[in-house]
Amino acid sequence: MPTKGPIHHGKRVHIRCRRCGRRAYHIRNKACAACGYGATARIRKLANNRKPLQRNRRIH
Ligand SMILES: [Zn+2]
Repeated sequence: MPTKGPIHHGKRVHIRCRRCGRRAYHIRNKACAACGYGATARIRKLANNRKPLQRNRRIH
């Protein structure tokens, strides 16, 4: 691979959350930072209202 610079080191902290669709699911904590998936059974509606789904951004 050509030089691309240290981007992620192959380790991702957040992956795509299956509930809110955002790339905010923390792998190690096993909880979504945006909607609280994994941490709580209830959806964090505050976070939902604050930011819409960022589907235009690249989602890994
Ligand atoms: Zn989520």
